[in-house]
Amino acid sequence: MDDDYNSGMGCPSESSLAGRAKVCDGCPGKALCQKQGGVDPDQEMINLRMNAIKYKILILSGKGGVGKSSIAVGLSISLAQHSNKVGLVDVDICGPSISKLMAVEGAKVVNTQYGWTPLKSPHEDVKVMSVGNILEHSDNAIIWRGPRKTQLIKRFIKDTFWGRLDYILFDTPPGTSDEHLTVVSALKNVKPEGAIIVTTPQQVALTTIRKEINFCRKMGIRIIGIVENMSGYVCPCCQEVSYLFQSGGAEKLADEYGLKLLGKIPVDSNLTACAEEGSNLFTKHPDSPASIAFRKIATELETTLPR
Ligand code: ADP
Repeated sequence: MDDDYNSGMGCPSESSLAGRAKVCDGCPGKALCQKQGGVDPDQEMINLRMNAIKYKILILSGKGGVGKSSIAVGLSISLAQHSNKVGLVDVDICGPSISKLMAVEGAKVVNTQYGWTPLKSPHEDVKVMSVGNILEHSDNAIIWRGPRKTQLIKRFIKDTFWGRLDYILFDTPPGTSDEHLTVVSALKNVKPEGAIIVTTPQQVALTTIRKEINFCRKMGIRIIGIVENMSGYVCPCCQEVSYLFQSGGAEKLADEYGLKLLGKIPVDSNLTACAEEGSNLFTKHPDSPASIAFRKIATELETTLPR
């Protein structure tokens, strides 16, 4: 990483090279960075909040539309059904969907003396924070530059009164961007458990995943496993699963990189319908193939993580 900064890539403001890397020459913030010596003044509070949470997990995907938010929601509800206390943070600042999926759309986050109070979803009491619940009008387009997004994400981590939780899941935007770097650097002192990578079976999605894997490796983030979404199609009449796309891509990828395939979720019209209305798939259709698949993945995740 230090080599990247010295060769002119990225801002080293939170590294030991803050204000001293080649890239800092000519930057108006150089003097301030040198003074702070790469120490983030927010870090103490971040550590305090995050150390009260046992497992901190990023949900990543190479491209949009592969079902990353649906997986973040499904996993958080399944984990909560296993008697875990769970938080879900929507870090997808420009395309937030978690408020709707967790049925807290329109609810406003309250600021108290302890910080922002996360919203409690009617879906298994999962605690939720999303930019959609901070803005005055949730339909407004969010056209924010990096620093503003960074500030908000940090506030979700540092200024939110999460309390003691077993899990916190970060639903990130597709690809690797400012948002990912912000979460990763905020969590660097509190040992995040790692990342779950979501893909679909098609080759094009799998190709973008390689970039996610390389990002994780470069940033020192452990990859907990891969989830293959839209793996097969559930017939709405007989519930039989048929395979529209070539299957087995995620297995190959897992083998190639020595990663764990946590499980596969089929295209299930019950999931789409529940997402549209913000209802709970697991109470409405507990025996649907997607519900069963999510429960299996949650169990697999629990057994994969250290006790
Ligand atoms: P992303 O977060 O990757 O952009 P979303 O989770 O928003 O993707 O999913 C995109 C669309 O696909 C949504 O309408 C969602 O309801 C639907 N979807 C995702 N996964 C499934 C699935 N397994 N079965 C049916 N619909 C799905």
